[in-house]
Amino acid sequence: MGSEKTDAIVLGGGFAGLSCAVALAEKGKKVLVLDKKPHLGGRAYSFRENGLDIDNGQHLFMGCYFATIKFLKTIGTHDKLDVYQDVVVDYAEAGGKRDRLACPSWLPAPLHLAAGLLGLKGVSFREKSALLSFDRSLKSMKSGPIPEAVEKLTVRAWLTSLGLSANFQTRFFDPAAIGILNDSPDVASAAGFVQALRTMFFTGAESSRFALAKTGLSELYTDAARDFVEARGGRVISNAKAAGLIERDGRVRGIVTDMDSRFEAGHVVSTLPPWDLKKIGIPSALRGPWEDLKPAPIVGVTMKLDRPVMTERFLGMLHTETHWVFNKTLVHGTKEEGQTVAVVISGAHKQIGYSPEKIMAAATRDLAACLPEFSKAKILASKVVKEPFATLSPQPGSEAKRPEPGTGMPGFAFAGDWTRTGFPATIESACLSGQIAAGRL
Ligand SMILES: Cc1cc2nc3c(=O)[nH]c(=O)nc-3n(C[C@H](O)[C@H](O)[C@H](O)COP(=O)(O)OP(=O)(O)OC[C@H]3O[C@@H](n4cnc5c(N)ncnc54)[C@H](O)[C@@H]3O)c2cc1C
Repeated sequence: MGSEKTDAIVLGGGFAGLSCAVALAEKGKKVLVLDKKPHLGGRAYSFRENGLDIDNGQHLFMGCYFATIKFLKTIGTHDKLDVYQDVVVDYAEAGGKRDRLACPSWLPAPLHLAAGLLGLKGVSFREKSALLSFDRSLKSMKSGPIPEAVEKLTVRAWLTSLGLSANFQTRFFDPAAIGILNDSPDVASAAGFVQALRTMFFTGAESSRFALAKTGLSELYTDAARDFVEARGGRVISNAKAAGLIERDGRVRGIVTDMDSRFEAGHVVSTLPPWDLKKIGIPSALRGPWEDLKPAPIVGVTMKLDRPVMTERFLGMLHTETHWVFNKTLVHGTKEEGQTVAVVISGAHKQIGYSPEKIMAAATRDLAACLPEFSKAKILASKVVKEPFATLSPQPGSEAKRPEPGTGMPGFAFAGDWTRTGFPATIESACLSGQIAAGRL
């Protein structure tokens, strides 16, 4: 592709980069996508190993992932995402004890959540009365920027200030917070939690629905996005690592790779995570507090079992080291003997340093405690995946360090899940950032 023909270079071929490239291609722009890895998908991809189809980590989508759904519809793979009509979350704990959050779909949001929370068995009526102050606080932040005072609080401090008991927090708020924010409620800022909750519960009942990919993650979007871009005259190159930006006369003009290839274009959109972006040569005008943003790890285990151990699509595990377990057989609609499950530990700062055997031991211990059938099951195959740089650690003060998507300097725009989209660093933030950056070029 000659440089004069390239309208924009997009750095990174994950959700942000591909949704940006697709939005630009849709507008008739000639785009060049570069990614350092041999495959597309960034932090959300899948692969096959030991006879297992493995996601690099189980990804949960939500009905309020509007930018993501728009992206998937544009590339024609929306039907590979199953959006569940019911808002139901089952919880399991040691001894096979169960609880259930069931939000009636006939009630408008956020009343359906209130009804669901009131129905939790493991929380007393007295403890539930604190929901009134929780509701008042959330409503006062229904839209607009999150107040600085709340941004400075951890999730734990915010919930406790509303009178929510430790038991209520452990049984409902902690699993939700750690799933959404990928860090412990003791260290994560309340800002991201409020951003997610208000979108999920104040923008229509469909926003709080859960959704899961019926296929491996890569199959959900990478090939279709590449085809969309290339069919419109663009190009997608893997194994191309950006080493620095080319700047002339106060404007970014292109990039140079570690193999010394030069690509020039009218605009460069970077969707590189902050820890990768700060490693490449960038003009001083782009330096800023974003360079201090820190990652939070996720550890996952996929296991093929000789028998079914759960009937639900997914379960939250209470009082355990591992947080969630997903029934991949049911979610993917696979016809197989036995069952494939995926276990997730979010905010896994400690476990990221463990050996795969130690992670496996934690997962099997928790499954055996929460799912009685698991003790009878034989593990036929398994795979531990560690993602040390899974998402941004949303510590208090981090929100202000996130640059807005589409900003930067002449010829250059920041994007990526970590930019300030009004969402925690998630797939939705990634897709939204890419679309915003594309819209601002
Ligand atoms: C295990 C795990 C579980 C998760 N679970 C969820 C979930 O349940 N729900 C949810 O919404 N989100 C989840 N996330 C977060 C989600 O995956 C990310 O928010 C999203 O994938 C980020 O997309 P992105 O395009 O912004 O960044 P990335 O996917 O990181 O894309 C950036 C790309 O840039 C490339 N790159 C880096 N440096 C260079 C360079 N120098 N030159 C060229 N290319 C470069 C990388 O190879 C990468 O492909 C999870 C993440 C992980 C890891």
